[in-house]
Amino acid sequence: MAKRDYYEVLGVSKSATDQELKKAYRKLAIKYHPDKNPDNKEAEEKFKEAAEAYEVLSNADKRARYDRFGHQGVGGAAGGGGFSGQGMSMDDIFSQFGDIFGGGGSPFESFFGGGRQRTRKAVGSNIRIKLKLTLEDITNGVEKKIKYTKKVVADGVKFDTCNTCGGRGQVTQVTNTFLGQMQSTTTCPACGGSGKTIGSRPAGADHQGLTSKEVTTTLNIPAGVEDGMQLSVNGKGNEIAGGIPGDLIVLVEVVAHEHLKREGNNIIYNLYIDFPTAVLGGDLEVPTVSGRVRIKIEPGTQAGKILRLRNKGVPDINGYGRGDQLVQVNVWTPQKVSNEEKDILKKLRDSDNFKPNPDKNEKGFFDRMREYFS
Ligand SMILES: [Zn+2]
Repeated sequence: MAKRDYYEVLGVSKSATDQELKKAYRKLAIKYHPDKNPDNKEAEEKFKEAAEAYEVLSNADKRARYDRFGHQGVGGAAGGGGFSGQGMSMDDIFSQFGDIFGGGGSPFESFFGGGRQRTRKAVGSNIRIKLKLTLEDITNGVEKKIKYTKKVVADGVKFDTCNTCGGRGQVTQVTNTFLGQMQSTTTCPACGGSGKTIGSRPAGADHQGLTSKEVTTTLNIPAGVEDGMQLSVNGKGNEIAGGIPGDLIVLVEVVAHEHLKREGNNIIYNLYIDFPTAVLGGDLEVPTVSGRVRIKIEPGTQAGKILRLRNKGVPDINGYGRGDQLVQVNVWTPQKVSNEEKDILKKLRDSDNFKPNPDKNEKGFFDRMREYFS
C-alpha cells in the first residue's frame, strides 16, 4: 500500500505551524484512540499513521528532509529515523507522545508516561494444546473439531469495583526525585488490571471467579504446516474477569506416514520393483497424499532412478506453489531362489547384455540427489 502524504494524513497545509500540527494530531489521536475503538484494526492503523506523520513533521530536521525528499528522506525502508509507524507499537506511541493525551501539566509528565490515559485490559492466560495431523491433513489443509478445557467466568459471579484502583485497573504512584515529582503508572496489584474484584461467587468457582469448562472449537488448519509449528487462535484461551480471553496455541505434531516422507515441500517415496520389471518395463501404482497414482517404468530402468510426480507434494504454506512427489526406484533382490531360477539367472549372467556397462553420462546416485534437492 502506498504511503499517504504526512500533511494529508494530519489534514494540514504544508505551511502549518507547530501549534497547528499538534492540534491536528491531537484531534486524530483522540478520534482513533484505542480506548474509544476497542478491537478496531482500522482505527489502530489510522492512529499509528497519524503518530508517524506527527513524529516526522514535529521534528524540524525531519520535516525539512521530508519536504525535500518525501518518505525516502525520513527513513522509509532504509531506516534512518529509527522510527516507522508500521514497526511502532502502541506502547511506543504512548511513551513518545504521552503529552498529547495529558494536555499539559508538568513537563515531566509527558516524558514519564504520566499523561497516559490508556487503561490496559487484563488478559487471560493462553492455553497450549497439541494437535496430531497426518501427512494428508497437512497436504490438503483440514478442518479439525477439537475439545479442550478452558477457564470461563462462572455463572452467578458478582463483581465489585476494585477498591485499590477504583476500577481503573492501574495505580499511579507519585515519587519525589531531584527532578521534581514523577508519576508512574502500574497494573493494579489487587485486581490484576481488571478493575474488578469478586464480590460473591458460586460454589466451584475459584478465587478469580473462574470455573473449568469443556468447549469445542473448529480449527482451520492451512495446508503446508510443519511439525513443531505453533498456530495461535486469538481469544480462545482462558477467560479473565473484566478482561479479554487469552489465546489458544496449537502445537502441530505430524504423525509419520506409513509409506511417504516429507522433505521440505516434496514428498519422498521409496519404490521397490522386481528385476524383470526393471528390464522389461511396466505399469504400477504408487501411493500419494491424494490417492494411488499409476506410473510407468521404462524398459531398462536403473536402480536409483528418481521419478518426479509434479505437484503431488505439499503446498507451500506461504502460497508459493506446491512441491512434487519424488519416487525413488529400487530394484528388489530376492533372498532365496529355487534351483530352476538359479539356472535361469546363471544363463542370464553369461549373456553380454547383462554385463554392467554404464554410460559415461549416467548420473550416479549422489548427482541425482543433488539435482533434486539443490
Ligand atoms: Zn484494582
